[in-house]
Amino acid sequence: MARKLLVASANPGKIREIKSFLGNINGIKLEIVGLDEFPDLEEVIEDGDSFTANALKKARLRAEQTGLLSLADDSGLVVEYLGGEPGIYSARYAGEKASDEENNLKLIEKLKGLPAEKRKAAFICVMALVDPVSREEIVVEGRCEGIIQLEAKGENGFGYDPIFYLPDYKKTMAELPLKVKNQISHRAVALEKMKTEVKRRYS
Ligand code: IMP
Repeated sequence: MARKLLVASANPGKIREIKSFLGNINGIKLEIVGLDEFPDLEEVIEDGDSFTANALKKARLRAEQTGLLSLADDSGLVVEYLGGEPGIYSARYAGEKASDEENNLKLIEKLKGLPAEKRKAAFICVMALVDPVSREEIVVEGRCEGIIQLEAKGENGFGYDPIFYLPDYKKTMAELPLKVKNQISHRAVALEKMKTEVKRRYS
């Protein structure tokens, strides 16, 4: 029987994406399930001081609650010139209920007038997999490098995508088709690394 792997996210898009990456790795069949199968679990408060702390907190708690192999991620944008801001505060950079547009405007305001090399940024995704049986924990990180553009452009994606410029493509992330984003994004890089780790341990 296939072992169940819980994607500790209620986002159907994320579950689908992870399923296509980890669902059937050369022989090991993992049945990927989402948090929607556990509607009674309360939300996890993401109060860690790093992407890793938050991803591990979520994966550990869900593994303990469900007894299933549990995968969780935490992601965001870091700007070196701003000491790593917005970092773990990416979703609420301009305030608790800030919109993507408000977060983008705050970042543009902070970087206005600076040359491109001072506007270097990276999307980061940390993924943690916790095995409640062996107690093993795997943590991987994916990065995607770019430059913050001072004018939003493009309609695809979400979050900081319209101001995240990719020099190799001469486009913002929001101007790229989703299919391309899903090949180069921080999440794709983390998932590729996680796939290698899962293959090594579970086959
Ligand atoms: P989460 O870890 O997926 O909840 O992402 C946290 C926040 O980081 C989001 O609300 C966005 O502001 C930002 N973020 C994460 N991934 C992306 C992305 O692929 N594009 C744009 N913004 C992102």
